[in-house]
Amino acid sequence: MNCIVTGAAGFIGSHLCERLLQKGYRVTGVDSFTDFYAKKFKEQNLTCLLAEDKFSLISKDINALDLSDILKDKDCVFHYAAQAGVRSSWGREFSIYLDNNILATQKLLEAAKNTSSLKKIIYASSSSVYGLCPDLPMTEDSPLFPYSPYGVSKLAAENLCSLYFQNYGVPTVSLRFFTVFGPRQRPDMAFHKFFKAILEDKPIPVFGNGSQTRDFTYVEDVIKASLSALENGKPGEIYNLGGGNRKRLIDIIPLLETVSQKKVQIQWEPQQKGDVIHTFAAIQKAEKDLNFNPNPDIEMGLTKEWSWIKKIYSA
Ligand code: NAD
Repeated sequence: MNCIVTGAAGFIGSHLCERLLQKGYRVTGVDSFTDFYAKKFKEQNLTCLLAEDKFSLISKDINALDLSDILKDKDCVFHYAAQAGVRSSWGREFSIYLDNNILATQKLLEAAKNTSSLKKIIYASSSSVYGLCPDLPMTEDSPLFPYSPYGVSKLAAENLCSLYFQNYGVPTVSLRFFTVFGPRQRPDMAFHKFFKAILEDKPIPVFGNGSQTRDFTYVEDVIKASLSALENGKPGEIYNLGGGNRKRLIDIIPLLETVSQKKVQIQWEPQQKGDVIHTFAAIQKAEKDLNFNPNPDIEMGLTKEWSWIKKIYSA
């Protein structure tokens, strides 16, 4: 297998590259090292990958590449590059979301439609496409009401994937990730910020009243499902990947204390624009087609993320 992973230097993309290499696949990573968060994290994510013979890196923006040339003779693309983050997607920054999430996906799909070797394109979609969806749990057929510009951009790209399948037979599979956590989590995400604050003996910032719920998903489960989607995902289909760890944010605090062995102080902050109250994935479709079987032990995942946080911030 000869794979392309876009967003290879990021949180999820770097874990995915490692797993593909372990399986003996050849991997071409593409990443433009956007300045959404510090480059040093992405460089650390790549450390092991760059030592592998079967890994090569293209450090460029998808929008600036001759993709037909790069896709030639490749078996699959994992399209995990994006401008992530809900809160920063308002205002002038939205143009970055247009470029990196919508235009880059359209460009990739245009090149893919002329690449006969491609067996699958796996797109990293998001629970943010559900937004204010009233269904709990949310099924793949639930109505979609994105509540942030980020959610709109992820849904637009997901729709493009479906359109290129319907019109040109491009074998796209979209995976809707629900709040992924674990080692290498992005610095703008809650557990990363919480653990960093705990390490520095500072209060942790909690937005709203803490009663919002998230279906937390351990990164290892997302990677296993990504590989399974390559083998078993049905072209044109969309799958929810939620970890079965739906919790109120406030109920996470005692777990953080157990894992870190420290008392946690909270700093209450107003609810942020674009933040939804609940996410909760129905995962029966992924269980059936992808053998998705997420580990419900959130404490295990938190312990691994805490170890990683201690390591990177004490280096
Ligand atoms: P990340 O920011 O750590 O990784 C994304 C990578 O894409 C970055 O390294 C960035 O430099 C790169 N990139 C962005 N635009 C690019 C472009 N135009 N050309 C080349 N590279 C580009 O984010 P992540 O948390 O690893 O997320 C990976 C994917 O999963 C994203 O598509 C994101 O929308 C999706 N997702 C993540 C979560 C989560 O909880 N982390 C949840 C839902 C969906």
